[in-house]
Amino acid sequence: MKDNNCYAFIIEKLEGIAVYKDQNVGVLSRYKTGGNADLLIVPKTAEELVKSINAVKGVCPYFILGGGNNVLVSDNGFRGAVIHTKNLTKREIKGNLYIAECGVKMQTVIEDMSLNSLGGLEFAVGIPSTVGGAVCMNAGCYGKSVGDVVCYVITENGIVSKGGCDFSYRSSKFLTEKETAIKVCFSLKPSEPDVIEEKLSAYKSFRKNPRGKSCGSVFRNDGFYAGKIIDECGLKGLSVGGAKVSQEHANFIIASSRACSQDIYKVIEKVKEKVYEKRGITLVEEIVYLGEF
Ligand SMILES: Cc1cc2nc3c(=O)[nH]c(=O)nc-3n(C[C@H](O)[C@H](O)[C@H](O)COP(=O)(O)OP(=O)(O)OC[C@H]3O[C@@H](n4cnc5c(N)ncnc54)[C@H](O)[C@@H]3O)c2cc1C
Repeated sequence: MKDNNCYAFIIEKLEGIAVYKDQNVGVLSRYKTGGNADLLIVPKTAEELVKSINAVKGVCPYFILGGGNNVLVSDNGFRGAVIHTKNLTKREIKGNLYIAECGVKMQTVIEDMSLNSLGGLEFAVGIPSTVGGAVCMNAGCYGKSVGDVVCYVITENGIVSKGGCDFSYRSSKFLTEKETAIKVCFSLKPSEPDVIEEKLSAYKSFRKNPRGKSCGSVFRNDGFYAGKIIDECGLKGLSVGGAKVSQEHANFIIASSRACSQDIYKVIEKVKEKVYEKRGITLVEEIVYLGEF
């Protein structure tokens, strides 16, 4: 535990909002590994989320957790507050604009879009994500990214226009400056339902995720395919404890039920070391660490 007084101060400020002390947050990640956060805050509304951010900012370290699909939680947990967005699930459609709170799943966005004859995010079908996580990571595939479709984002500091979001490959100001995407407005295009369905099934058929528990691509494909390089270095199958480089796709690390976060981390470190040794390339993680490693 960090300074208990600072947590007492936060809990008092957040009266009426769900705040839990010393909670396991590893279970909220896709890998289901890792330890406890000193505080877990679960706001129910956008107002509660803003209140939660304001209560922790400058008082203790904090982390916004969406679906946990791209997060590795330290086995030692996190000395600070995790704010989980899972209950922020309101959404509305105004013409071609789709406005969603950050906890809405991208799968739900795509279903709504399709039901309302709107297109533009079909490529994202199959990316496990909340709206907030997708915007923060500028998630994407097949040369398209979620940021391309964003009109504006509402954060704790006000409205950020698309141009102000600093979208780049798997990055945005929400990642680099730690601003929270509370509501996101996507600008969609009218489209025929059968055209949308056709695109969705094509994108689904392209997607071949390796079997087993993973967080998707561990390393950024920035100017090169990390998986191809890892494969060429002969690292498929490299393992530590319960974690190993997938035999099917070398940019995926698969964790068995006996894996801990340290196993996954050690595989990441070994891959980086070997790729640097053999090819002189420094791989950079796309996966986000929560806590100390
Ligand atoms: C099987 C599999 C396949 C995948 N395929 C792809 C793919 O094709 N393309 C791709 O880009 N990714 C892919 N991923 C990675 C992952 O799905 C994306 O990174 C996704 O956008 C993460 O969303 P999340 O809600 O789970 O965010 P989390 O994992 O919870 O968080 C990721 C980051 O976003 C931040 N964040 C979350 N919510 C907010 C918010 N409201 N405001 C500000 N910051 C926030 C977190 O602090 C963290 O830094 C894949 C993952 C898996 C498991």
